[in-house]
Order: sequence, then C-alpha cells, then structure tokens
Amino acid sequence: MRVILTQLYAPLYRNLVFPFYDSVLRRRKTYSYYREVSRVPWLSADEIEGMRRRRLRALVEYCARNVPYYTRLFAERGIDPSGVDDVGVLRESGISITKEDLRSRSGEFMSGEFRREDLVCNFSGGTTGVPLPLYKTMDYWCMRMAIKLRSEDWIGKRPGTPSAIIWGHKPNLGRIAMARLQLYWNFQNYRYLSALDIGEESLLRYAGDIKRYGARYIESYVNPVYLMAKTIEKHGIDPPRLDGIVTGAETLRDFQKEKMEEVFGCPVYDRYGCSEFTNISCECERHRGQHINADNLWVEVVDRNDRPVIGEEGEVVITDLMNFAMPFVRYRLDDTAVMTNRKCECGRNFPMLEKVIGKTTGIFRAPDGFEVHGKYFQWILYNVPGIFRFQFVEKSSSRVLARIEHDGTTTREDTERRVKEAFADLAAHGVGIAVEFVDSIPLTKAGKMNFFVSEREVRD
Ligand SMILES: [Zn+2]
Repeated sequence: MRVILTQLYAPLYRNLVFPFYDSVLRRRKTYSYYREVSRVPWLSADEIEGMRRRRLRALVEYCARNVPYYTRLFAERGIDPSGVDDVGVLRESGISITKEDLRSRSGEFMSGEFRREDLVCNFSGGTTGVPLPLYKTMDYWCMRMAIKLRSEDWIGKRPGTPSAIIWGHKPNLGRIAMARLQLYWNFQNYRYLSALDIGEESLLRYAGDIKRYGARYIESYVNPVYLMAKTIEKHGIDPPRLDGIVTGAETLRDFQKEKMEEVFGCPVYDRYGCSEFTNISCECERHRGQHINADNLWVEVVDRNDRPVIGEEGEVVITDLMNFAMPFVRYRLDDTAVMTNRKCECGRNFPMLEKVIGKTTGIFRAPDGFEVHGKYFQWILYNVPGIFRFQFVEKSSSRVLARIEHDGTTTREDTERRVKEAFADLAAHGVGIAVEFVDSIPLTKAGKMNFFVSEREVRD
C-alpha cells in the first residue's frame, strides 16, 4: 500500500507540490533556478568558461569593495580587482584562504551588505575543532538546492522519486524533533533513516523500511550503506530493489562500491560535497568521473607549490562564484582529488574530476621515522575476516590500538591473529598493536565514521 502511495506522490510532487510550495507558498526560487540551471551543462565548453569568468570578475570586484578580509588581502598583494577573470591571477599572487583563517577571523569574511540575522546559517562539520558557522543568502541557498536537484537528474533521480536517505542529525533528538525531521523528508518523498544508529539490527530494520517505502534510490554516507550491504549479505535476505545508490560525505573505496553493487544489484554513484559548498561534483549515468558544478564553483586541483595539476593527485581549492554574503576565494578544503581533461560521452560540458580521494588524512610516523599515509589504516584490514567495523587509535608513535566490532563469522582469536599479521609492516618499524573488541565504535557528532583517530599528545 505504502509503495503505491509513494509512487503516486512522485509525479504529483514533481509537477505540482514542489513548484507550488516553493514558488507560491514560500516565494522562493529553488524551482525556477532548477529549471534554469538544468540547461547549463549542455552549453558549449566556451560558453561555460565565459560564464565562470564573468562570475569570478564580479565576485572579486565585490569582495574588494565589501568584504574586509579581501579588501586588505588584495591591497597587500597588489591585486587590481577590476578584470580578474581567471583564478590563476589570484594564485600567482599567493592568494588562498584556509579553514583556520575562517575560524580565527570569521567576522572579516562577512560582506558589510548583509545582516547575519537575514542569512541562512549552517555549520562546517569536519573532524577537528569547533564547527564553523557558514552564511549565505536564502536566495543562494535555493540555488545550491537547485544544483543538487540538477545533479540528481544526471543519474535519473527526478525530484520526488521515492528514495531513502541515511544521514546524520543532531545527537539526542527528541521524538518530536525526529518526527519533524521525518516529515520534512517525507514531504520530498524520502524515508529518513538515522546514520547515527547503524548497528546490525538497525540496518536490517532499515532494509525492511526501504522496501516497504518503495524507495528507488538510497542516498547515504558511504559507511552506513556499505555496512547495510554486508549485513544483507550476511543474513541472506533479499535486498531492496533499487535504481541507484548515491554516496557522499565520506570517501568511497573501490571495494565498497563493488560490494554495494553486487549486493543491491544497482549502480553506485559517487558525489562530492561539503558543508561549505553543498554539491561540488557528481557522477553522471556514464560513471566517467565527476562533473564539476562549474557554473557556481571554480574548482582547482593544485600541487604542494600551488601549481595546477592534471591527472595526478593534488589539493582541492575552491572559489564559490555566487556566495556574496560570505565569499570563499580560493578556499583550501583539505581534500585531495585528481582533475582530468577528459570529456564525458554524455555531452555535458562541465569540467571533470577523475576521482575524489577525499580528506587529507594525517601522516603516521613510526619511532624509527618510517611514515605511512593515514589512509593506510583504512586499507590494512581489507580481507581480514570477522570484522564488521574497525577504528585505529594512535596512542603514541609506537603504540596503536585497533578497536573492532566483531561480526561473529570467525573466532575473535582468529581475527586478532589476522589483524596482527596484517600489521607486520609497521611492527617491523617498532610499532606495537593492541586489539580491543568493542560493542560499538563511537561515531562523530555528524554520524560519520573516523577510521583513524590520533590521541598523541605531542605532534611532531
Ligand atoms: Zn557525463
């Protein structure tokens, strides 16, 4: 019954409820922006390039006039704000901002034209420090939502398509607040499921909920839906029949994608976004990399010397071309990705990221100076049996703790022995490993899984 209702509601929402609610009741522009921006990827590459150059010029001129941080920075670096139509000009003058700049001088990043109480505020997540408030106008918020809807069209998920979302929320929400959250998502034809509660029992319940709702897509952090795939496989139950899975907010590894596609029997689309910019890029139906939303964001991938790199891993730097309330000019996101010159056969002319590697994770240094990338710890236990979830805790340069949620498919002794074997490389460099079996690994406040946590008191 429920399935029939959600199927019937889909065209009603898309054609009537959404435009009426957004344009007439709320007097917002999400729907009109959505129609407008849907055309942009099909423009020629030159037209798109022209559009982003014009927008950059307007932004730089605006920042020089209205945003104290940039007024000072541009003057210091001798930037003539008129006529900057390429981020290369800013790059060559050494202009970029970091999360730390934003944290320590947040007031200076606000345009003098707006009052905070008139703006929409969300917070940057991340794994370090206190969340940062991020401001934008309601109008621009609508634009960002329109862009999200556009990228969902690329994978065949039209507005209102019955879907499930497994996402974070504020911890300790009461029943009423949770019901309101559910209602908010139901209105858009989503079944909302909490990413904070992803034990095995909950994941089995979620799978049943998704089936009953008739969801065609799951939108989720990587880990919850990956764990759901593993749980479905372990219990041998029928998976929900889906048209696709959209992952975001955590780095999608190949083995996770393979497992989800195998268990759910549908494609997995990766999307790259963050709280500062919402949607940065998304895969289309061809899976040839991610199309960058270049009409709104000027995305660069640079090496350690801040030089652009193509086809190799580099740091992601983003200029938000349309946020005038709190402008981001060459913002260093602490993520790594690979840019490509390749065109996608789909015909959309947005530039592309070959792949997104994600958060720049720290380096682990053994007592003898041997170093590994923090992501090493994400890979090391791949293929070790008996592990449902794990987390490494760096206690010191010579001591690491592996917390493991055991899945019962083998003995704990066997798993512990295999973990220690997998760790042999680091053991050879004087690093000791202890294994602790736990009932559940704590998630971050946003419900994300940190596979590597450092508790070292003194960083080198
Ligand atoms: Zn494409």
